[in-house]
Amino acid sequence: MNSDLPTGPILSGATLGVFGGGQLGRMFAMAATQMGYRTMVFAPEADPPAAQVASLHVRADYRNDDAVRHFAAQCDAVTLEFENVPAETLELAARHTLTRPGPKVLAVAQDRLRERAFLDRHDLPCAAHRPAYSAADAVEAVNRLGIPVVLKTARLGYDGRGQRRVDLVEQAGDAWRALGEQPVLCEGWVHYQCELSVLVARSPDGEMQTFGPIRNEHANHILDVSSVPAGVSTPVARHAVELARRVATAIELEGLICVEMFLTEEGNLLINELAPRPHNSGHLTIEACLVSQFEQQVRAVCNLPLGEMTLRGPTAMVNLLGDLWNGGEPDWAAVLGSDDRLRLHLYGKQSARPGRKMGHMTAVATSADKARSAALRARRRLGRQSLAAMADDS
Ligand code: AMP
Repeated sequence: MNSDLPTGPILSGATLGVFGGGQLGRMFAMAATQMGYRTMVFAPEADPPAAQVASLHVRADYRNDDAVRHFAAQCDAVTLEFENVPAETLELAARHTLTRPGPKVLAVAQDRLRERAFLDRHDLPCAAHRPAYSAADAVEAVNRLGIPVVLKTARLGYDGRGQRRVDLVEQAGDAWRALGEQPVLCEGWVHYQCELSVLVARSPDGEMQTFGPIRNEHANHILDVSSVPAGVSTPVARHAVELARRVATAIELEGLICVEMFLTEEGNLLINELAPRPHNSGHLTIEACLVSQFEQQVRAVCNLPLGEMTLRGPTAMVNLLGDLWNGGEPDWAAVLGSDDRLRLHLYGKQSARPGRKMGHMTAVATSADKARSAALRARRRLGRQSLAAMADDS
């Protein structure tokens, strides 16, 4: 980091930059705009969701050094909304402006092997694992870990992409080759009760605020439903928050991080993934908290006091994927008119593809179950029969 950069609070009127143009950047820019900041989005796509609400869009490749330098020089601070921005891009930006989180955090979070090494180094629990740099390594790893094993590419995997489950030792070499003959994390299969996530905002001064745990349900490897309270025991909830705080402190986070975990059948918590940015499971904080994950990111990036993320009431969120558009534009008016506990968020994406996150709906109710049911029922009315929705007839 450039030591000439200011360390005090960044006040409204300043310009905040975000690498990445997706819905997370969009909601960050909305929160920043509300607080009086100008926002600049750096993203290679044309008309990305974040650019529609930002003051300015720099459309360039992340490897375009001139564009990165120019962008950074115009921003009082820069953050990110997805972790596949090259760490070198953030390093370059850090020579010209404050980057929160910094490049070191990003380098850990964008590589599963580094992420596991970080967790091991800090004695933070995760599933048994081994790296594989060759087919032979993968066979050896599966032999050591015991089947089933999941192979995950160290880089650029998300929503289940870049993953292969191996149920027989003989499949291990082929699985490694099928993933593109690249460095891979081999991980013992976790038999879990549920998946949880905890959000931590941490300011450059080290102040922290947490939210969660949030209970997450996936369908086809994509987050489907999130709800709070998570319905776990108080000791488990406390432990989940404590682990997330330890992660944020150990990684010296400046900004926001989501720590995803498994709660195993035996009742242990294992950390699965670190995302140093707002997270899909945290969308419900817009309705569930006085200060949302996006506002916390703004406050942390600007070194302002953080808000308390106290839960206002049970809340659930369902994702709206492109599949819903199969029969044309969904009937939003009918759904919104049917239940006034619902809120609709759409991301302004022009083309709806299967599996593409187009928006989400949030419901508040008197219990997490009721909120979940209300959100699922509303989505069913829109036409999508997700696995979770089919299992829920209430
Ligand atoms: P990830 O990309 O690591 O977040 O994995 C995507 C999803 O795959 C997770 O949300 C889990 O549902 C599942 N998964 C990942 N790793 C494991 C594991 N070691 N054991 C069982 N399920 C896993």
